Amino acid sequence: MTTPGTFEILNSDPSSSARRGRLWTAHGPVDTPVFMPVGTQATVKAMTPLELDETGAEIILGNTYHLNIRPGIDIIEKCGGLHRFMGWNKPILTDSGGFQVFSLSGLRKIKPDGVEFSSHVDGTKLFLGPREAMDIQRRLGSDIMMAFDECTPYPCTYEYACQAVTRTLSWAALCAELHPRNGQLLFGIVQGGEFADLRARCARELTAMGFDGYAVGGVSVGEPEPVMLEAVRNGVVELPVNRPRYLMGVGVMRQLVESVSLGIDMFDCVMPTRYARHGTAITKARRYPVKAGEYKEDTRPVEEGCDCYCCRNFTRAYVRHLFNVNEILGVRLLSIHNLHQMTMLMRGMRAALDGGRFGDFKQEFLEANKEDR
Ligand SMILES: [Zn+2]
Repeated sequence: MTTPGTFEILNSDPSSSARRGRLWTAHGPVDTPVFMPVGTQATVKAMTPLELDETGAEIILGNTYHLNIRPGIDIIEKCGGLHRFMGWNKPILTDSGGFQVFSLSGLRKIKPDGVEFSSHVDGTKLFLGPREAMDIQRRLGSDIMMAFDECTPYPCTYEYACQAVTRTLSWAALCAELHPRNGQLLFGIVQGGEFADLRARCARELTAMGFDGYAVGGVSVGEPEPVMLEAVRNGVVELPVNRPRYLMGVGVMRQLVESVSLGIDMFDCVMPTRYARHGTAITKARRYPVKAGEYKEDTRPVEEGCDCYCCRNFTRAYVRHLFNVNEILGVRLLSIHNLHQMTMLMRGMRAALDGGRFGDFKQEFLEANKEDR
């Protein structure tokens, strides 16, 4: 077993910053570039771990904020940690709760050592800061822990983004100090909004603290795509080449391909399962509402050529019928398909990087992908 935290760069694309890597964790290796399905409430919605595994998922996300509110860390610890609690033996990354504290809770008070906020469930006063986030993630037993940060909204003034970077850095320093170094990895998060100098400063100072990996946060919060990609470009430029880089909350296929070429290795997004619940299929070329009436008699699979369980066995007419009569299986089948599509895209990028043809892959993909912006 290779030491957790080891990151091998197996191939690099000469025409861009894309790389093909392998990150070792306490629950095994993760081949990058990778897409991580989101399991907010200790479940990737509607999927059993077995089904998730069959979609090709290598690593999934858990959520510090939500799991700490319900069922509470004591119960998960009593059940043997998050892996055993949810029956998933492969790697798990947990976010720090920073994003939820700043986006979900209406009433909050930012203090030097964290944030006082009201639970979005019952209004109870709670407190989450770097100490609490590190303690909870340690007890969850996540393979990759995230430092507690302040995620700024879009738009955001320079002054506020600057203050948030300062707070993020001081909280990151405390997280680094509290890192148990027991095989659980710790990633720092680059903030700074749309401001190049703040992104660079944040990345530089985090790098000096020496994390196992680095994330670009505060993106995909409502900004236009060019602004997002510019923040990614500015966010990675000062990061060390030999550590993994994770772009938080981005899951639009075209944006994944663009971000890989900017040097991103890891992604997460709720989109594949959220779209599935709304009856929308993700395909290489576009997204479309398979629940729509026009597919009533369509005998083709959700996507022709897809080898997922849904597409191997069922027609659009059947999946559309399930949604039409509110059968749970519709959501489940479409979740399998959508997650499989994300995995296949990442596998495609990895194979292209291995074969030295990422540039062609990217060009062909972007030409074929007509997804609306
Ligand atoms: Zn499929």
